[in-house]
Amino acid sequence: MRDDAHPSDLKGLARDLNAAFPGLSPLERLTTLRETVPGRLVFTTSLGIEDQLITHLIFRNAIKIEVVTLDTGRLFPETYDLWRRTEEQYGKRIHAKYPNGEKLEELIEDQGIDGFYYAKEFRLNCCGVRKIEPLGRALDGASGWVTGLRADQSANRQDMDFAGFDAVRGLVKANPIFDMSRADVAAFCAENAVPVNVLHDRNFLSIGCAPCTRALQPGEPERAGRWWWEDDTKRECGLHVPDATDGTDGARELAR
Ligand code: SF4
Repeated sequence: MRDDAHPSDLKGLARDLNAAFPGLSPLERLTTLRETVPGRLVFTTSLGIEDQLITHLIFRNAIKIEVVTLDTGRLFPETYDLWRRTEEQYGKRIHAKYPNGEKLEELIEDQGIDGFYYAKEFRLNCCGVRKIEPLGRALDGASGWVTGLRADQSANRQDMDFAGFDAVRGLVKANPIFDMSRADVAAFCAENAVPVNVLHDRNFLSIGCAPCTRALQPGEPERAGRWWWEDDTKRECGLHVPDATDGTDGARELAR
């Protein structure tokens, strides 16, 4: 359990950050977050281009925010290659959380190695074991969680805030590049030699697990390549659910 910040304090800090963030640069948001919130801060990266921008800012400026990735075991080879290249470029470790071995064995026994294609329930089970449970361990005891979410990634994200209080996990959730466009992010990464996934050049805009991600067709929205066989509009894996940004609204289900 975290012992250096009470949840009611964190709720107030989240409100302060949300008010302060719009006038600040992404780097200033990260440093302000670090100066404002006591205790462990964790940035979870999927190694997508947005997350690489934040990793660059944290590593280059030695900001005391842990950089953690969830290795589901089903990532693209190109993503593992980027992970290695990033550690080499910055001389820093990206910490990893893995699925619980016994739970993973039970999952595969129950629904098969690629069961997620056959029923949404199976897909959520897989995301639960490979992502949600490890995320819980990554955030255990943390006061704050940093994400690379952007508002214009999907309609579901339009009404999110820069920062809020995640009432379920009891921490501040901060989205420091929430107002950047994809073009802004790409331009920053190009100008600053930030390593990015080579799959982005092959029309993979949002990159997750290999069996659940495909390249976009011309004109498709940014996240259309994720869980494309599910035809509903809310394709969530649960990493960002529920998003209780003001402590009262806990029903927003968002995808990663
Ligand atoms: Fe499993 Fe696909 Fe979810 Fe990855 S994205 S955890 S492979 S269902």
